[in-house]
Amino acid sequence: MESEEITMEAGVDMVLARAELHTIDDLLAQAWNRISGKLHSIYGEAIFRSWLKPIQFTGSDNGKIFLSVPTRFMREWINSHYISQITQLWNAEQVAEGYILEIIVPPPSANAGTAATAPVKAEAPQEVPVVNSNVIVPSNWQPTETADSDLQLGASLDPRYTFDNFVVGKPNELAFAAARRVAESVQVVPGCNPLFLYGGVGLGKTHLMHAIAWHIRRNSPQRRVLYLSAEKFMYQFIKALRSKEALAFKEHFRSVDVLMIDDVQFISGKDSTQEEFFHTFNALVDQNKQLIISGDRSPSDLEGIEERVRSRLGWGLVADIHATTYELRFGILQSKIDQMRDIMIPQKVIEFLAHKITSNVRELEGALNRVVAHATLVGRPVTLETTQEVLHDLLRANDRRISIDDIQKQVANHYNIKVSDMHSARRSRAVARPRQVAMYLSKKLTSKSLPEIGRKFGGKDHTTVMHAVKRVEELMAADQEMANDVELLDRILQN
Ligand code: ADP
Ligand code: MG
Repeated sequence: MESEEITMEAGVDMVLARAELHTIDDLLAQAWNRISGKLHSIYGEAIFRSWLKPIQFTGSDNGKIFLSVPTRFMREWINSHYISQITQLWNAEQVAEGYILEIIVPPPSANAGTAATAPVKAEAPQEVPVVNSNVIVPSNWQPTETADSDLQLGASLDPRYTFDNFVVGKPNELAFAAARRVAESVQVVPGCNPLFLYGGVGLGKTHLMHAIAWHIRRNSPQRRVLYLSAEKFMYQFIKALRSKEALAFKEHFRSVDVLMIDDVQFISGKDSTQEEFFHTFNALVDQNKQLIISGDRSPSDLEGIEERVRSRLGWGLVADIHATTYELRFGILQSKIDQMRDIMIPQKVIEFLAHKITSNVRELEGALNRVVAHATLVGRPVTLETTQEVLHDLLRANDRRISIDDIQKQVANHYNIKVSDMHSARRSRAVARPRQVAMYLSKKLTSKSLPEIGRKFGGKDHTTVMHAVKRVEELMAADQEMANDVELLDRILQN
C-alpha cells in the first residue's frame, strides 16, 4: 500500500531540512495532543480508548500530516467514522494550515514496538490464559497479516470471572439472577431470549458473561458457546466479506448453541455489519438458540443502531446493572480481601475505600490492588494514612467528578435564570440558550450519554441534546463573548 511508506529523508539539504522538520513536527505533535484531548471529551472514554487513543502523530512530510494506527482495520474504521471530526479539529489548528491529513499503518516491523498501544492488547490482561475448549473460535477467520494479529479472535475467558466470585447486591441482583437462570438451563429460557445485560463501565457485565460461559462449559460441555465482543464480530464479518467467505462466516455463527456478544454499542453505525448481526440474531432465535448480549445502555437508548435491531435486542429479558451502593462496594472489597493471603487490611480502610471510590468496581479493585501492592513492596502494614497517600490522585478524581446537577446550578446562576428552567420546555432565548450551554457542558464534562443527559433536562430527546452541543460549538466559533462565557463556566466547574 503506497500510503504506508513514508520517506522522511526526501530533502536535498538533509541537515537543514531535518532541523526544520523537527521544529514544525514538534508544533504539530503538540497540536495533536490538544486534538486528542478534544476527541476524548467529544466521544467519551469508551470510544476514545478503543479507537482514538491508539492514534499516534508520526510526523509530517511534503504538506502531509501522518497519523499512524496499529492495524488496517482501525484505519478503515477511523476513516469511516471519525475522520471528518479529526480533520475539522486539525483545520482549527493554525500550525496545520495547508496540510493534508493521512492515516497510515506502519509496516509490521515498525509496528512491533507500538503493540502495547493496540486497543485489544491493552485491555486483555497478559496473565490470563486462553481457554478454548468448547468456546469455539471460527478457525477460518484467523487474520493472515501479522499487523492485524492483535485483533485476532481470541474468545478467552478470564478464570476469575465466575458466579462464585461475583458479589451480589441490590444494584446487580436482577442481572445476576437472570444470568444464572440462563446459564443453568439446558434450553432457551422462555422470555429470556435474548438476555440483554446493560450498565455503565466496570459494573460487571463482562464478568457475568464469562461466568455464564464457564458455567455452561462445566455443566453442559456438549453445548457450543461462542463469546466475543461486538468489535470482533464486526471485524470478522468485514474480513469474511473481503475474503469472500461470507457464507462460511454465516454458517459458523449460526451453528452455535449460545452466542454471547459483549459491548454491542460498538456495532453502531456500520450498516452492513448490523444487517448481518440482525440476520444471525434472527436465525439463532428461530432455531431456539440462546443469545446473550451486553451493552452500555438499554436497547432503546443505543445510538446509531437501526430501529429494527434495537427493538429485536429488547425482545427478551432486559436486565440492568445499577451504579454500586456503599454496601455492595464494601461487600466486594471484603470478598477480594478474603481471597488474598497474608495481608491484613483494617476495617477502617475498607470503609474508607467503599466510601470514597464510588465510580465503578474496576476502579475499586484497582485501588485495593494498589494499596496492597504498596504495602507488600515497602513491607509495612496498611493504614488509613498510607492508603490516602497511595491513592491521592484517584481520590481527587473521585471527589471531583462533576454531576449534571452541578452544571445546571452553575449555568443557571451565571445566566441568572432558575434551575427549574433547565428542566422546562420554555423556548424563549433567555432560558433556551443557557439550557443549551448546560447540555453542551454536560456532554463535555461528564461521561453521560446523550439520552441520559436529555432525561436530566426534563426528558428531552437525545437529538435535542445533540443539536444543543452542535449549536453551542457553532456559537463559540462565531462569537467571542459566547466562547469566553462557556470557557469560564467550564473552568469554574472543573476547579
Ligand atoms: P464491565 O464489563 O461492565 O465494564 P467488568 O465485568 O469488566 O465490567 O468488571 C470490572 C471489574 O470489576 C472486573 O474485574 C470484575 O471482576 C469486577 N466486578 C464487577 N462487579 C463485580 C461484583 N459484583 N463482584 C465482584 N467483582 C465484580
Ligand atoms: Mg466489559
